Amino acid sequence: MTLLKTNGLSKHFGGVAAVDKVDITVQAGEILGLVGPNGSGKTTVLNMLSGFLAPDAGEIWFADQNVTRMSTVQLARRGLLRMFQMTRVFPRISCFDNLLVAGMAMDLSEREAASRAAALLEELTLTHVQYLDAGSLSGGQRKLLEFGMCFIKPPRIALLDEPFAAVHPVMRETMADFIRRRHALGQTFVLVSHDMPIVVDLCQRAVCMNLGRVIAEGPTRAVLESAPVIEAYLGN
Ligand code: ADP
Repeated sequence: MTLLKTNGLSKHFGGVAAVDKVDITVQAGEILGLVGPNGSGKTTVLNMLSGFLAPDAGEIWFADQNVTRMSTVQLARRGLLRMFQMTRVFPRISCFDNLLVAGMAMDLSEREAASRAAALLEELTLTHVQYLDAGSLSGGQRKLLEFGMCFIKPPRIALLDEPFAAVHPVMRETMADFIRRRHALGQTFVLVSHDMPIVVDLCQRAVCMNLGRVIAEGPTRAVLESAPVIEAYLGN
């Protein structure tokens, strides 16, 4: 089943076609990798999918609804959540309270939010820092907390924007395990990452962009090893 689909999605900045007639589909339950050299248009695609930018042309369909002009808030309410922009930690309250606030913002009762918060802190190896202010966490711990805030009420689709960048390898593995477990439970993800070994490991399918266009899509390894993709990375 197709959960998310774009038709002819396009965005220009001045004379630059940042995204040029892009058609992408995301199947329910998959982890789709979105890769490509710097400047290929990945962030602009995510910005449009999550309602941060309005497309110049084209459509976005989410669960059979045309959501092209919806705001980030409307999309998040429908279950399309972009991580590391939508979920911002509050530095002056504890990790536990951050999760509580995130849960209550998603209309969970305080009791339900507290019970989910405790389970997520455990799963994300943050129990030992649960009563510390979120502002005192390391960058990687903060990203783990953001995962927790995003999943206090699991979205229908999570758009992950370079979640592994500048994160300690141990926490990177905690994050990857978290994604694997959620995927096994049926969670759908779109993952933008420069970390090719992790993309190969996590993503069943990948779409590669270059100069605003999709240049390859299919099983991840086949995409990364295809001639146009190698050429695009060498040319960059
Ligand atoms: P990626 O995420 O793959 O690195 P981007 O989507 O950030 O690529 O950028 C695609 C192209 O659009 C690049 O040429 C970039 O310089 C241009 N671009 C992105 N955002 C803006 C903007 N706000 N203003 C002008 N040009 C932009």
